Amino acid sequence: MRVAVFGTKAYDRRFLGAANERFGHELTFLEPRLDSLTVALAEGHDAVCIFVNDRADAEVLTQLAESGVRLVALRCAGYNNVDLAAAERLGVAVVRVPAYSPHAVAEFTVGLMLALDRQIHRAWARVRENNFALDGLIGRNLHGRTLGVVGTGRIGALVARTMRLGFGCTVLASDVIEDATLTEAGIRYVPRETLLAEAEIVTLHCPLTPETRHLIDAAAIAAARPGLMVINTSRGALIDTGALIEGLKSRKIGGVALDVYEQEADLFFEDLSSEIIQDDVFQRLLTFPNVLVTGHQAFLTEEALEAIAETTLGSISAAERGEPLLHRVDRGAVRPAGAAPHKA
Ligand code: NAD
Repeated sequence: MRVAVFGTKAYDRRFLGAANERFGHELTFLEPRLDSLTVALAEGHDAVCIFVNDRADAEVLTQLAESGVRLVALRCAGYNNVDLAAAERLGVAVVRVPAYSPHAVAEFTVGLMLALDRQIHRAWARVRENNFALDGLIGRNLHGRTLGVVGTGRIGALVARTMRLGFGCTVLASDVIEDATLTEAGIRYVPRETLLAEAEIVTLHCPLTPETRHLIDAAAIAAARPGLMVINTSRGALIDTGALIEGLKSRKIGGVALDVYEQEADLFFEDLSSEIIQDDVFQRLLTFPNVLVTGHQAFLTEEALEAIAETTLGSISAAERGEPLLHRVDRGAVRPAGAAPHKA
């Protein structure tokens, strides 16, 4: 198939290019992201391959369909940037990579938790300046703390297990479906409100949907335990950033580690070090000593990039042969494999 690969970075070219030696598609690597201004670049292609911040809304999908594109291949797990109803109406199939390496994201999440809790990011900066003072770097043991995991799919389940079995945390979980193997491991499912009220650390691993949008908002923060630590490696809009900043200013929130941000599409994946950042909310966030932000890199391991390339190109080949699409995203919830229905 002729595939327009939008938002290409050097690592996409490397891993997709290497895997494609076996698949033999015609890949056009394009640097711009897909949106209503760049959609014309898809002309002459059968499929587009996109990432988290490309925009496949109704307008873009209509233009894609008109130019003959029949497949949108997301080289990521989340699909909140695709208007699935419009895709269905237009006869454009959408595939994703549901589980390229949940370990990559889960391990990064635990890394953020450790770094934030023990202030490793601040210690690193100090030592580079020959400042070996320890004042202000007191952390807390993770052992014995209460962690709340929102969304116990592939990634959340790994984080929950690691923190329960590896670190000895009390782990509360909330999900619309319950994983019995986690309950057996001593992880307790509770309603989300209970989790948010009892947890000392909350980590988010549910998808972004209308129901989960701003699940950490002013009300949730007001009901939380003082000093709550918030970790988000899922999607930025799960958190109301304005409310988060107010929570940090009032010290109700004790620390924040984010790999994703509500307005990240204007910032992440680009070198803006010589630019003037116009997003005042993001800039305010960076001023807090107890906030650690990374630029959506939790997925970025060699294993994950290999798996993403393999699954994406495999789906494109299946579409070319007219076979059923294993990783097709349809409207409605996508359930993680092996999870039992919620009992409550
Ligand atoms: P998954 O589909 O395996 O798990 C998501 C879980 O969330 C499921 O168990 C689902 O039932 C649950 N869920 C759905 N609605 C919920 C709700 N209202 N409340 C609580 N739980 C709910 O997905 P995954 O592979 O574990 O990925 C989780 C998220 O991580 C993805 O949605 C994606 O946005 C994000 N992600 C981020 C990166 C990164 O690099 N930062 C990489 C991969 C995935």
